[in-house]
Amino acid sequence: MNVIKNDFFGEVEMFQLGYSPIGSPLMSVFMYVVDELLIDTAQHHMAKVVGGILRETSLSRILLTHHHEDHSGNAAMISNRHAIPVMAHPSAAEKLRLGFPILPYQRLVWGKALAVAATPLPDVVETNRFKFTPVHTPGHSKDHIVFIENQHGWLFSGDLYLGERIKFFRSDEDFCDQIASLKKLMKLDFDTLFCAHNPCLKNGKQKIKKKLQFLEDLYGHIRKLAEKGYSERAIIKELDPKNDRGVKWLTMGNVSFANMVRSALASNSNG
Ligand SMILES: [Zn+2]
Repeated sequence: MNVIKNDFFGEVEMFQLGYSPIGSPLMSVFMYVVDELLIDTAQHHMAKVVGGILRETSLSRILLTHHHEDHSGNAAMISNRHAIPVMAHPSAAEKLRLGFPILPYQRLVWGKALAVAATPLPDVVETNRFKFTPVHTPGHSKDHIVFIENQHGWLFSGDLYLGERIKFFRSDEDFCDQIASLKKLMKLDFDTLFCAHNPCLKNGKQKIKKKLQFLEDLYGHIRKLAEKGYSERAIIKELDPKNDRGVKWLTMGNVSFANMVRSALASNSNG
């Protein structure tokens, strides 16, 4: 089953795309079009729909928030059809150049991760009416970028927000980097959070503040238990609501609460 929703917020056109072989999609993903820019490209399973949606749209560039397959899934196709460049962080470009391996669950939920040539982002991405500044915000992935449009208070936040109280990390997420990146966002001026899975059209900064608080509290909690002599397993048992198991099983351990604990224990606190 496919879910396609289309809405406008000011001059930003928002597309919500969900796919599931049976029943309703578990997760959907957003891509945004603003003044000939396409920010993220959604999952490859929705390639036909995305191609159709954008057929008549004039586009000058594709910006990627990070390399993950649910954001880069249609970059190659759109870049070819519209003859436009894809821009991303240099490490995202490196991964995307050859294509990157994904797990069976990622293939099932999102579809293939296709190779695409990407070029580095300039300091400012200017369109006719807007100026977007890319800000490197590692944590969810090393190559994660957000785009701020100061005049309008827009923040295209990729997967840095997702929710105030997240329960899982992918295995490549970094706890302290996420805290540092959220702190970086607190210094920026914005109100609208164009999150790639969960847009918050008002009070976006407050949402970021709450997520930062949640992560700092959880980080402190995990480190405190470790200081008391709790093992990694014991910490997970103490803090983990049992619902971790299904996700962990489905994703072969790639997405879990355990990844959050592991990352908090591994990283040096600089936040
Ligand atoms: Zn992601």
